[in-house]
Amino acid sequence: MSVETDWDVIVVGAGNAAMCAALSAAEQGVRVLVLEKASREDRGGNSTFTAGGFRFCHDGLEDLRSDILDDMTEGEYASIGNLPPLSQDQFTEILMRITEHQADEELGHILISRSRETMRWMRRHKIRFIPMFGRQSFKIEGKHHFYGGVNIEAVGGGWGLIDMLMQAADRLGITVLYETGLRDLIQDQKGRVTGVRAFGPDGYVDFTAKAVVLACGGFESNPEMRVRYLGQGWELCRVRGTQHNTGDGINAALRIGARPHGGWSSCHAVQWDISAPPYGDRVVLDNFQKHSYPIGIVVNLDGKRFIDEGADYRNHTYAKYGKEVMKQPQRTAIQIFDAKTHDMVRDEYRIREVTKASADTIEELAEKLDIDVEGLKHTVAAFNAACQPGEYNPSILDGVGTKGLEVPKSNWALPIDQGPFHGYVVTCGITFTFGGLKIDSDGRVLDLTERPIPGLYAAGELVGGIFYQNYPGGTGLLNGSVFGRLAGASAGQAAKG
Ligand SMILES: Cc1cc2nc3c(=O)[nH]c(=O)nc-3n(C[C@H](O)[C@H](O)[C@H](O)COP(=O)(O)OP(=O)(O)OC[C@H]3O[C@@H](n4cnc5c(N)ncnc54)[C@H](O)[C@@H]3O)c2cc1C
Repeated sequence: MSVETDWDVIVVGAGNAAMCAALSAAEQGVRVLVLEKASREDRGGNSTFTAGGFRFCHDGLEDLRSDILDDMTEGEYASIGNLPPLSQDQFTEILMRITEHQADEELGHILISRSRETMRWMRRHKIRFIPMFGRQSFKIEGKHHFYGGVNIEAVGGGWGLIDMLMQAADRLGITVLYETGLRDLIQDQKGRVTGVRAFGPDGYVDFTAKAVVLACGGFESNPEMRVRYLGQGWELCRVRGTQHNTGDGINAALRIGARPHGGWSSCHAVQWDISAPPYGDRVVLDNFQKHSYPIGIVVNLDGKRFIDEGADYRNHTYAKYGKEVMKQPQRTAIQIFDAKTHDMVRDEYRIREVTKASADTIEELAEKLDIDVEGLKHTVAAFNAACQPGEYNPSILDGVGTKGLEVPKSNWALPIDQGPFHGYVVTCGITFTFGGLKIDSDGRVLDLTERPIPGLYAAGELVGGIFYQNYPGGTGLLNGSVFGRLAGASAGQAAKG
């Protein structure tokens, strides 16, 4: 197939950030080519593997109904007891606290202050949203009570999101070329980026463009880069999503003098079923994650607890606890629930592909799961004795905690004392890396002396500076949407001259 090689804007990648950049560039009336390394069947990058959950500012249910949730049914509306608002101040406080106050304040401000308008912009492109009934609410007296700040998802989750973005791209006449991966950026003698060298089914092709937007993910699927930046042992983690995010865009930009930025030695990583395959499974998707640990306890193979399972809402702790599992013997942990809480675990615990055992006693459970029996008995007895009375409520930070333990449980601490007991075996699954390129407030990639590299823009996972150590759930997609839209608009305007 012969392909046009001269374009106004080239967007590299076809995940959420890239497709938002492509839509936004096309809105400027320029010709846009999207280059995607994966095949059409494997398209959508990590964005496909998501639940499609977005964190953004809003004033609560009535406000959301006016635009983002405008096609919600009366029945859905009536089933909601509470869907709390999220203000800019709250979002900022969470981002800064969770990233240990390292998040780039300028980028953080752009992300948060433009979150609502960007969601509205997506809705105008016919992306549909619904409340996350299944995963982000607890039912109290028959009504859904939402918590934790990530309450809205794209219809159809990540698959739905990518399908709807692709349909929007079709409507704007954007061309997507699959199985064609960026290898290098091309510059003119003055240093302006004038195109990309890509590798496709017919070998190398040079594409020219007036502006290039890099949106081709982090380096989570590159074992060598993981070890180099995250540390020893990281070649052994599972990858939760696409195998195509191997740091190509980051490396190509660094080769021409782009400035590295952000949390290079850290990443988003979660507790992930120990039997999950090396990369994401496009059917099981994110259901290998095991995220009901706040209502149970987590132990290692010695039977010892090592995290505060109830330190905060799941949305504020899950992305850092995978790294804690990496530090345990054989990179293995076991989540334990008793009969009191087991009925409340998320749907991902009920899939066929789950590594679990159940038993009537703690000893028997330990034997079945190869946990040190005495170690686990001792841990559970000490934990139960440390649980303090209080009003248990999993939809709020209830303060029902332990007292006197070296590793406390700060909320939702109920004794593990009613059989049958259930244990789920997890390891570490990496989601995405935090280190990347430095951009300015127009989405332009900066060089080592912080001057924009002419013609080069970036968005999504491969931009560094927003996340350090930890991450507030639902911010990855929002990040791609806000900065994709921004970089695409800047690239489109630059291409128009
Ligand atoms: C299992 C899972 C669940 C998640 N759930 C959520 C959630 O509910 N909410 C949320 O906000 N975030 C979630 N995340 C995080 C979220 O997926 C990412 O933050 C976000 O999708 C990143 O978007 P992106 O467009 O930057 O990258 P991607 O969506 O990964 O897109 C990058 C694209 O670039 C392509 N590519 C790579 N190299 C090249 C190359 N050399 N040339 C051309 N193309 C290339 C890839 O094939 C891919 O299509 C989840 C992630 C995973 C893995």
